Amino acid sequence: MARLDPHSYTDSSHPLATHVALTLYFDFAARTIQGSALLTLPAAHTGPLILDTRSLVIHSAVDPLSGKPIPFSFPASEDPIFGRPLSLSLSAQSAALVVFSTTPSSSALQWLSPAQTASKAHPFVYTQCQSIHVRSIFPCQDTPAARFTFSARLNLPRPLTAVMAAARAVDPRDPTAGEAGPACPDALWCAPGRVVEEFVMDRPIPPYLFAFAAGDIAARDVGPRTRVHAEGGAALLDAAAREFAGAEDMIRAGEALFGPYEWGRFDLLVLPPSFPYGGMENPMMVFLTPTVIKGDASGAQVVAHELAHSWTGNLITNKTNEHFWLNEGFTTYAERRIVEVVQGEERAALNTGIGWKGLNEEMERFKDNMEFTKLKPNLDGIDPDDIYSQVPYEKGFQFLWRIERQIGRPSFDEFLKKYIATFKFQSIDTETFLEFLKANVPGIENQIDLQLWVEGTGIPPDAMEPVSAIYSKIVSLANEFKLGKIPKEDEVADWSGQEWELYIENLPKPVDASQLTALDARYRLSESRDYEVKVAFLQLAVSSGCRDYHGEVEKTLKQVGRMKYLRPLYTALVHGTAEEEKMLARRIFAEARDCYHPIAQGVVESILAKHS
Ligand SMILES: [Zn+2]
Repeated sequence: MARLDPHSYTDSSHPLATHVALTLYFDFAARTIQGSALLTLPAAHTGPLILDTRSLVIHSAVDPLSGKPIPFSFPASEDPIFGRPLSLSLSAQSAALVVFSTTPSSSALQWLSPAQTASKAHPFVYTQCQSIHVRSIFPCQDTPAARFTFSARLNLPRPLTAVMAAARAVDPRDPTAGEAGPACPDALWCAPGRVVEEFVMDRPIPPYLFAFAAGDIAARDVGPRTRVHAEGGAALLDAAAREFAGAEDMIRAGEALFGPYEWGRFDLLVLPPSFPYGGMENPMMVFLTPTVIKGDASGAQVVAHELAHSWTGNLITNKTNEHFWLNEGFTTYAERRIVEVVQGEERAALNTGIGWKGLNEEMERFKDNMEFTKLKPNLDGIDPDDIYSQVPYEKGFQFLWRIERQIGRPSFDEFLKKYIATFKFQSIDTETFLEFLKANVPGIENQIDLQLWVEGTGIPPDAMEPVSAIYSKIVSLANEFKLGKIPKEDEVADWSGQEWELYIENLPKPVDASQLTALDARYRLSESRDYEVKVAFLQLAVSSGCRDYHGEVEKTLKQVGRMKYLRPLYTALVHGTAEEEKMLARRIFAEARDCYHPIAQGVVESILAKHS
């Protein structure tokens, strides 16, 4: 008995399921799903088979061939982070059908009432399964080491429609008696006004890429393999279609750099503002926050990132979350290469500069726990959501960029293509990458201190700040702020959100509150439509003790649920010693909590608890 992954109960001596067939009945009134999961093993197995679950009710386990019950054990209580192991006792069986229901506390699911949607007319539900949340939708081996294909049959109330990170198998149709098996009685399944939708994913995915959404969703084609979907009416769909019109150019740029696009479709789903991330790289159907729609095509960077995952991440996944940099570091590198092709070198250098700043700030955040500044940290017993940071992204990027500088871009490009072709549809660890690197770039270990990069804390001395004309100009303008100088109109005339973000982040701390107010009076940064700019400004204002912006902070925290904004704003409010700000943070959270995804709720709770 040994764990395969510190974040899963999966036993390394047990076979891994290769296919899961799901039947899911959506009950919007109860905010639950009744369902069954039919797991197929590669061969007949005798003995225990352990599955991950959290916040699930287990009704029965059945041998699908004989219809006989499969004995199982299920502890009475569960770990709040890792959940509860469901242990089935198989006897020469190669499949098991588990009948279950989700509960309103299933953390992967956010159920929105009609009032919480843009249409105000219909409810909405969507998933976010990374890192370890799919176990709160159905029992499975919830480790990225266990890839599976799946099929799913969803039963919804009309007129709602579903989308999945999978291919649609048939057009929406009426329910058929008996097809739900033990998952759901026919009286519910075939009730008037219900519709059935079916999807398949025939490429093996890690569990965290399982995804669906259901609601009043409309769609529009924006490219030969890209359709934008959104809840929120025609105006939002128009804006999204304009913002993402360049998707096909990006896919082609990605193919030229990294090899064929293996997933067929590259569709996009714009979610309600509560979506906790900027984007989630669900294969065939990327999930996006509406905050990426800025009206100036700058949201393309998030799309470039999620697209890059189609190669680095979704094709080659980290085996466990301790090797998360293999997923995000490679994707950050690949994203910047795509941005360089479609938006130019200067834009890519700006992204790198923002990332460099972010990486340095994480060193400050983790100064009392440097383990989390390692590329390959020890995460035993640690909730991955709790230590989510820029380290795997930006330190991973820096490591790959360092290798590129050492061997030259043409050789590194060739290496990347070979790496992707060699390990596609696999889940690997850091050691596998290093072995492959040393085998393909002989002597690299004598030129770069690979061990320091992978095992060391902090930022290695051979990491590098980007060099670019715009970037240096912004940094020097920011440095002049402490001399009382605010940039002149002509100096910022062609700045977009990223330039402002970089400028704000580089302002020397501490900043004088009255000077910040003067800056804002001229450029209205606190009211920017670009949340990156607005939040960077508000964070700085709060941590500089400037109380003029509490109203704007409250408005922002109630408008969006993206953790990239919640985390710095709540942290800035509770970080100091001022009781007024702490009380404000607690009041806003109490009022906004229901609008946040359960993952974001947990993250804010832990920020408030650390500074109570
Ligand atoms: Zn990513």
